[in-house]
Amino acid sequence: MHRRVITFSKNAFLPLTTVCQNRCGYCCFRTPVREGCVMAPTEAIRTLEASAALGCTEALFTFGERPGAVPGFGEMLGRLGYADILDYVYDLSLAAIDRGLLPHTNAGILTYEELDRLREVNASMG
Ligand code: SF4
Repeated sequence: MHRRVITFSKNAFLPLTTVCQNRCGYCCFRTPVREGCVMAPTEAIRTLEASAALGCTEALFTFGERPGAVPGFGEMLGRLGYADILDYVYDLSLAAIDRGLLPHTNAGILTYEELDRLREVNASMG
């Protein structure tokens, strides 16, 4: 008799923003710049803590590709004290590690240098 084994990783899903510079025809994720279009640090930390308490082992940070290239996004992010979303996800990755979660960042296409930097604080990237 065959036993079917299903594996999965319990992860916390943190869509830091749905703003994206691209326009993929099949996309149902992207939204325009608007008030509150960046997840606030308080919400992100609350999600990390609640997820850790529920036994999650991974923090999945995702966002559109190069949202900073979309007019108006920089101002929204600047209100949270960041000039670049990659700096924001770097700090949140450290916060995830502090809470026992392995960060996985899904940022779209990055340069080698950007990947190399995030590699310091990510268990994997997509
Ligand atoms: S890169 Fe991703 S988020 Fe951006 S438009 Fe394409 S599918 Fe949507």
